[in-house]
Amino acid sequence: MPSATPVETIIQGIPVSPGIAIAPIHVTARGFSAPEVYEVAEANLANEHQRFEDAIHRAKEELSEIQQRLAELSSEEESRIFEAHIMVLEDQALLKRVHHAIDERQQNAEYAFYAVMQNFLEAMRRIPDPYLRERTADIEDVCERVLNSFDSVHARKNIRPDDRHILIAYDLNPSDTATMDRSLVLGFATEMGSVNSHTAIIARSLGIPAVVGLEEAVIDITALTHAILDGYTGKLILHPTEATLNTYRMIEQKKMRARTALDSLRDAESVTRDGRAITLSANIGLLEELPAVKNSGATGIGLYRTEFLLLNEEQDTMPGETEQTEAYSQIAKAVSPNLVIIRTLDAGGDKLPAEPLSEPEPNPFLGWRGIRVSLDRPEIFKPQLRAALRASAHGKVALMFPLVSGLSEVIQAKKILRECMDELDRENIPFDANIQTGAMIEIPSAAIIADVLAKEVDFFSIGTNDLIQYTLAVDRVNPYVAELYRPTHPAVIRLIHRTIQAGAKEGIWTGICGEMAGDISLTPLLIGLGVEELSVGPHQVPSVRKAIRSLSHAQCSVMADDALKATYSADILRLTKDMAKQHYADLFE
Ligand code: PEP
Ligand code: MG
Repeated sequence: MPSATPVETIIQGIPVSPGIAIAPIHVTARGFSAPEVYEVAEANLANEHQRFEDAIHRAKEELSEIQQRLAELSSEEESRIFEAHIMVLEDQALLKRVHHAIDERQQNAEYAFYAVMQNFLEAMRRIPDPYLRERTADIEDVCERVLNSFDSVHARKNIRPDDRHILIAYDLNPSDTATMDRSLVLGFATEMGSVNSHTAIIARSLGIPAVVGLEEAVIDITALTHAILDGYTGKLILHPTEATLNTYRMIEQKKMRARTALDSLRDAESVTRDGRAITLSANIGLLEELPAVKNSGATGIGLYRTEFLLLNEEQDTMPGETEQTEAYSQIAKAVSPNLVIIRTLDAGGDKLPAEPLSEPEPNPFLGWRGIRVSLDRPEIFKPQLRAALRASAHGKVALMFPLVSGLSEVIQAKKILRECMDELDRENIPFDANIQTGAMIEIPSAAIIADVLAKEVDFFSIGTNDLIQYTLAVDRVNPYVAELYRPTHPAVIRLIHRTIQAGAKEGIWTGICGEMAGDISLTPLLIGLGVEELSVGPHQVPSVRKAIRSLSHAQCSVMADDALKATYSADILRLTKDMAKQHYADLFE
């Protein structure tokens, strides 16, 4: 039986998106979708045991029928697969665990079954034996069948809890996160993930509190447990006491007051104390973020990630030119008279749904992604360029190419852009003939030849998320090497500096649209290095604006000179953080 007074338990993870959520937990795991979960009164538990027995019985009957049919068709091998499935349902130890879980959790039978099987499967997935790992697919299949065999009155497919909750998952992909129902999911915590994964970036952008790196969470945490998710410090607090709840309610109020104070600066210019203007724009990946951009007072959009529009898993085909024109025009109009920088498709890496475009790759981050895909697939690239051009008739639009590694990619991309312009001209379709083009600097080779690239583009936007991973050979989404992912590594700082200098020499501006731009500890360093634009998640705009307004460009430059001479990441971080704390300590509270 569950203990009468559960003990408050704190699980520590890595904070990736600030905010606090207080709600019951919903656990979703890999392999098959979760059934509804509800509490069952002790007096009704016998009925749940019976429902479970009945479901197993029905599933076994179905499997025997399938097995028989296959045997008649003389597919020996397939029929044996189903024999193995039946054996799973005859595993007495597993069946006992489910009965035990029904009593222990006092939850409905299908959820008890789901929880037991998930734990079992997760444990199996973590055994480094390929044969066992492969068998998990069979077991998932059996589980689906049993769950569908319950006499449930509820449709199971796509069931999501009706109430507001904190979501616990093994991992979430960027599109799961992008399509989360914000009115129900108050925050999430995952076992996998990292600060710079696209899932974390989207969470920050949408303002969803999130924590990653919670070991064994899917196995250990029981659905419906009341909890606090602290996205500031990375804690998940199960069964919080009344005192802890009060503390968190106070923290929430304090943060809210700080937020209101920052919002009052919404229309203030982002200019340093000594008069250097820094363009402060927003990163978005979804049209739904436009209101947040407007509320933040950002000067336009410095990075529109088009992957979510183009590679949305829920659509069978990629949106064509007309649909893209509508989306881009809507953004251009929304931010007018400010600029929107549309980044052409950056499929691949961890934004995986490159899947509809390609076979899985052994090393996706070094594979077919970014501009490489677009140049190989003019049938995808051209409609996107034409759509961006057409949108440029409705507002101020610029184009930016991702993952540029050398000059020829930029030349080729611009040649295709020119072709699109000629076509539109012939078709009498209006567009901005002076549309600006930029290169993302996110591969060390691009930073090293920035002097060459600067002659071909109108601006640089440094993608530090990738620049760090490629410079340091540290996977940006792999928690095992997260410690080595150091934005202030001297090599990264020198590459940023080099890019800015090369751009300035050719009279073009350089911005930063990677996550470094939104880290207020680093604002002094980036300003000191000479960056002219910072593009950050809409929710980060107010604090970065305050940081810029608190700093002196001259002082930042002196500090950045020292940082460029430093040899350790930690020393560079200390230099910039000290200056940040000296000028806006309140933003760190
Ligand atoms: C980057 O790499 O810093 C960047 C902004 O692009 P993305 O995070 O989408 O790869
Ligand atoms: Mg990138």
